[in-house]
Amino acid sequence: MGSITLEHVNKSFGGHQVIPDASLEIADGEFVVFVGPSGCGKSTLLRLIAGLEDVTSGAIRLDGADVTEKGPAHRGLAMVFQSYALYPHMSVRDNIAFPLRMAKMDKAAIAGKVADAARILNLNDYLDRKPRALSGGQRQRVAIGRAIVREPKAFLFDEPLSNLDAALRVNMRLEISELHQQLKTTMVYVTHDQVEAMTMADKIVVLNAGRIEQYGSPMDLYKRPANRFVAGFIGSPRMNFFEGQIASRYNAAAIGVRPEHVSVSKDGGDWRGQVGVAEHLGSDTFLHIHLEDGSLQTVRTGGDIALSHGDDVWLTPDPSRIYRFDSAGIAIS
Ligand code: ADP
Ligand code: MG
Repeated sequence: MGSITLEHVNKSFGGHQVIPDASLEIADGEFVVFVGPSGCGKSTLLRLIAGLEDVTSGAIRLDGADVTEKGPAHRGLAMVFQSYALYPHMSVRDNIAFPLRMAKMDKAAIAGKVADAARILNLNDYLDRKPRALSGGQRQRVAIGRAIVREPKAFLFDEPLSNLDAALRVNMRLEISELHQQLKTTMVYVTHDQVEAMTMADKIVVLNAGRIEQYGSPMDLYKRPANRFVAGFIGSPRMNFFEGQIASRYNAAAIGVRPEHVSVSKDGGDWRGQVGVAEHLGSDTFLHIHLEDGSLQTVRTGGDIALSHGDDVWLTPDPSRIYRFDSAGIAIS
């Protein structure tokens, strides 16, 4: 079992408050992603759960038991970092076995657990190699293997894929999701990448300046963002925002429309503009349109759209997909 509860957790470094007041319930077996811009407190929140940092006030519970005063070794959690932190002089086998050796487990049991982890992670052929003879993705799998053999209550990942190139990152993302399906152990995963958050999470925690802006499933956040920050952070390309006259026509301080919910035409529509850059991705085209009000808005269209720089166009939002926000940026339902 591995449910995690944060109760009014506050964290300050010196006089600097990083997490003002975080409360959160993570159910056993869930894959929860903490996402937000760099410096918003994701790692700090994860390290508080791990016990690597002490809370300034508030409580942390694992399976209902208060662990706030317990050190990291007594929480039964396993952490995987961006830097693999492998022992360079040890083989893959010994790196994976290391925590079990430290716990003085007997040799046969260790061999069995290492074999299980190696099979799950496709590391069977590499057990006798040293880390330097592995690719970045394989090294990260070894680090994950070392976490798996401990059979933790939950895995805590801090941007584990940031050091990998783009293609490998997509692969490893799938592997970690697959691993979660197999192990069904609670996973808390930190990333600044909203695509990783959307594709991997059962639930996403969107953090902004140490505050939890919203907690919900990926599609919940996409369809019903609680505020302008979440609306702008979740979704790619990002949501278009309008203020002033366009927004006041909808009785809002600001409105938002996603690029996939705007149609473009040469023959008339709601908002007039001119094509700036057309980004052709093959499957899709992202048109960046300069509107008459001076704003630059993005429209997602099909791959074969016959529009280019300088064309005069009209944009029309899908009226059922317009998000309205008040002057504080809170979504108006
Ligand atoms: P993220 O992981 O979202 O990029 P962090 O949790 O690492 O953000 O950092 C959040 C804020 O806390 C930053 O302003 C950072 O400078 C500050 N911070 C993190 N760790 C420490 C520390 N040990 N001492 C002082 N400030 C820290
Ligand atoms: Mg971080």
